[in-house]
Amino acid sequence: QKAEWAKLVNEKTITADNHHVELAANIGTPKDLKGVVENGGEAVGLYRTEFLYMDRDQLPTEEEQFTAYKAVLEGMEGKPVVVRTLDIGGDKELPYLNLPKEMNPFLGFRAIRLCLQEQDIFRTQLRALLRASVYGNLKIMFPMIATLVEFREAKAILEEERQKLSNEGVQVSENIELGIMVEIPSTAVIAHQFAKEVDFFSIGTNDLIQYTMAADRMNQQVSYLYQPYNPSILRLVKMVIDAAHKEGKWAGMCGEMAGDETAIPILLGLGLDEFSMSATSILKARSLIRNLSKSDMEALASKVLEMGTTEEVIEAVNAAVTL
Ligand code: PEP
Ligand code: MG
Repeated sequence: QKAEWAKLVNEKTITADNHHVELAANIGTPKDLKGVVENGGEAVGLYRTEFLYMDRDQLPTEEEQFTAYKAVLEGMEGKPVVVRTLDIGGDKELPYLNLPKEMNPFLGFRAIRLCLQEQDIFRTQLRALLRASVYGNLKIMFPMIATLVEFREAKAILEEERQKLSNEGVQVSENIELGIMVEIPSTAVIAHQFAKEVDFFSIGTNDLIQYTMAADRMNQQVSYLYQPYNPSILRLVKMVIDAAHKEGKWAGMCGEMAGDETAIPILLGLGLDEFSMSATSILKARSLIRNLSKSDMEALASKVLEMGTTEEVIEAVNAAVTL
């Protein structure tokens, strides 16, 4: 089977009825690019930049960050690279920031919440990104957006930094798409509002599932509630995709669910445009998608949306698709 998948490295990801979707990779450092290329990734759908900040005792400088972002953009040779701004907090701590301990870190001061308050950290990262933007096809994405106001504030800071760089005579790309992670239910529910202001969505199911089901993604005792195929999750995913398409925007997914063989047929049927996963899952997913017909999966998706339980959904997928 592996030999069969390997033949798909340079193939496009096209369904049996000729619909193209993009298979992208999640990366944590420029070193991961090798795996992306070897596995035929069509893009980087999520570059988790927090690893630049971890395992050290001070913040990375603008220059260090610029070097890393430039390396990734150049390594992808013009293919899209979605860079997520700092998502620290929750399960990822930075000891040198000396943040107070929290009762509920996953509901606390993390990601964009921290960046909007600690603006020096945020502005340094945005400058590094803007400077690197001329070396490839950069898209910037904000994590953990819960309100439109947060998005607007973050965007305004980005625009200020762009203006400053331009005043300094530094070249910045004019074509940087700006998107958000949809990983908090409040944002999924009013995705139609966000869709008017963002260029794209990337659905972060790792967090979206934990927040929708109120089940800590790290807690084994409640892991039975961590249900990607629960119709409540599928309906939120549908709302986000439909909202994007209504405004002519694209919707991707960069949570684990995007590379999951049971979820892929449903996501295809819901119209997801981009699937971002660990590089080692890409060829298997491509092989699966090339054997599916989008119109059949649309029928499957409408059916499972009407179901009540995860178990029924899994059964319906197994009946419709031979994995
Ligand atoms: C997610 O929440 O689905 C996601 C991709 O982000 P992370 O796993 O880094 O929180
Ligand atoms: Mg997340």
